[in-house]
Amino acid sequence: MVTINDTTLRDGEQTAGVAFTADEKIAIAVMLDEVGVSEIEVGIPAMGAAEIDAIRAVSALGLNASLMAWGRMCEHDARAAARCNIDIVNLSIPVSDIHIEHKLRRDRNWVLAQIGQFVPLALGLGMDVAVGCEDASRADPEFLLRVAEAAQKAGARRLRFADTVSMLDPFSTFTIIGRLRRASDIEIEMHAHNDLGLATANTLAAVRAGASHVNTTVNGLGERAGNAALEEVVMALRHLDSIETAIDTRALPQLSRLVAQASGRPVAANKSIVGAAVFTHESGIHVDGLLKNPGNYETFSPAELGRSHQTVLGKHSGSHAVRNAYAKLGMLLSDLETGAMLNKIRRFAMQTKKAPNAQDLTCFYLESIAFASGH
Ligand code: MN
Repeated sequence: MVTINDTTLRDGEQTAGVAFTADEKIAIAVMLDEVGVSEIEVGIPAMGAAEIDAIRAVSALGLNASLMAWGRMCEHDARAAARCNIDIVNLSIPVSDIHIEHKLRRDRNWVLAQIGQFVPLALGLGMDVAVGCEDASRADPEFLLRVAEAAQKAGARRLRFADTVSMLDPFSTFTIIGRLRRASDIEIEMHAHNDLGLATANTLAAVRAGASHVNTTVNGLGERAGNAALEEVVMALRHLDSIETAIDTRALPQLSRLVAQASGRPVAANKSIVGAAVFTHESGIHVDGLLKNPGNYETFSPAELGRSHQTVLGKHSGSHAVRNAYAKLGMLLSDLETGAMLNKIRRFAMQTKKAPNAQDLTCFYLESIAFASGH
């Protein structure tokens, strides 16, 4: 059992240049809830009244999902979170020596003392608490165990392990999360970043090592190169680890479009799972194989996402596909004509970087007839 905690509305919104209006926050929260995300990190109350109002508006919807707010491990942020009617607050504190010494100019004991002080304060304000371990991947693993112990002793239910600077790979993730898992029975949440393109892989590794919760964002939105993408994590857990989350995967493309629009960050055509072109085929060998049996060239059916395979003509098409495409337009080509059309299609694809549509194909054919008849 793995719980998805989606942070599109917090780390996703932390992406440079991304800002959601209150209405967009609400629309995204509603769709995350409908899709079946069971925890939503909604925002950062310490930013002020407008953010608190937006979070309260989400809270007032009475969604099924439980709501989390993000804050620093301090009284101000805990009190701001308590104004938002949320279920759980993530109170973040750096745990690496480099951050403790060079950012905070404190020491390890100070970190443990903060946890001992502010976790009970937040609990007393009526919220569950996760201790967010900033820069956990660069922390001394021994100290991380002491942080987990202090967090649990103070009453926190969860430790968020943040690979803040994105320096883990799946092997190191598995080792470090496994060690934490064996030493403590506190909930462990993985927060991965994608600077090396490993956020989803590291998230899966954390789950295999015993993480109970995973942080995701729609389309992998988030600081710098972003976070682990919700759609990738959900589909990979299903197909690689036989772990079903509560997510209705058929709704993921629609959710992706909403977030792409609200964030102003379009999704690349080849983005895993939700990219426009990821079920589109052109090469003769692949199209032929798919037509014979989809299992020849797919890990999972696009129907799981409410999508389907598309084939297009292009530079790598085979004559079979060309003849089929023309037959659908009511034109039955000879072998000679098929070869001629394939040449035209290749030239078109190279020049325009597009697949020809029905009108283009008709033009190619009419041109060749005109040429053949000397007009
Ligand atoms: Mn982050």
